[in-house]
Amino acid sequence: MMKSSRREFLGALLGAPLVVASGCKAMRHEQSFAVSAEAAPEAAITPRVTNYNASGRALIVEGKTLLVALTFTTSMNQLSGSFPVQFEAESAGSQSLTEEQPLYFYPAGDGRSFRTFLSAPLDAIADSYQLRVTARPQNGAQQQASLPYSVQTGAYRQTTLTLDRNFSNPSPEILEQMRHDFQTMLEIYQRRTERRWSKPFVRPVAGPDRANFGDKRTVNGTKHYRHQGLDYRAPIGTPVHAINDGIVALSGEQWTPGQTICIDHGGGVFSKYLHLSERHAHEGDAVRRDDVIALSGNTGGQRPAPHLHLDLVVNGTHVDPTDFMNTAARLIELEG
Ligand SMILES: [Zn+2]
Repeated sequence: MMKSSRREFLGALLGAPLVVASGCKAMRHEQSFAVSAEAAPEAAITPRVTNYNASGRALIVEGKTLLVALTFTTSMNQLSGSFPVQFEAESAGSQSLTEEQPLYFYPAGDGRSFRTFLSAPLDAIADSYQLRVTARPQNGAQQQASLPYSVQTGAYRQTTLTLDRNFSNPSPEILEQMRHDFQTMLEIYQRRTERRWSKPFVRPVAGPDRANFGDKRTVNGTKHYRHQGLDYRAPIGTPVHAINDGIVALSGEQWTPGQTICIDHGGGVFSKYLHLSERHAHEGDAVRRDDVIALSGNTGGQRPAPHLHLDLVVNGTHVDPTDFMNTAARLIELEG
């Protein structure tokens, strides 16, 4: 079984060179760990952990997000971490890939406690994984914590769809466009800007959603993939609202999404709105929660029926938007 990162694999799948800019960044990260370990061995620490789920146990379901609080015995002025989880993409011939998931920490105010979102990607291999944290107290040596989390397979539907054949059998030109779109989003989703949201996330349209995040789809009888976002009922021309404050990271046209907008909410949280008929927000715009940023539509190379597709990305991973909105609301509640 070959191991590689999602970005390398998908880049290769779409015809991109194996080594992309992001790969270099990940390597530098690992090197810095090795160097610091040689200079001064890091003390292993065990922060107190609170898991904000029903059981309080260290358990995450694929596609879902868990809010976690870590409390150290002394105040920390530097904290970083990651939660690498392996997944297996059916479309990749059962290759085992790793989603690195660099984490963003929300300080709790006392200098000793921090909260973070942990997620498991769709198609995660059910197993135990390590939440890795590096912390440095003021004037102190770097410390490391490794905390086990169990990842479980979720209950998702199996569906079949008929879409434009260019989607299941793309020409070299369309494949090149898809590869370009993929690289664009990869670069955006790696950004870690300051958190810009302080209120709960809201729905992008008034209409109901189809609860179809994570569906295991077969398109035109041949193409297998997971539905990585959530669809909302929205006739063409329905006002689309920003789900929270943020900066528009992308406003343009891509092959599968058609007219599309992506908002960087900060803290490694992004929302993306697909198949729009009109875009009213532009790259670099600061938007507020509930602002009308676009009108919904049916654009995109797969020729979808009219609806709004929402992607929610946390730590570089597509997660269930409804589940994430509830988890984020819990964080805000704790912050008072
Ligand atoms: Zn969709």
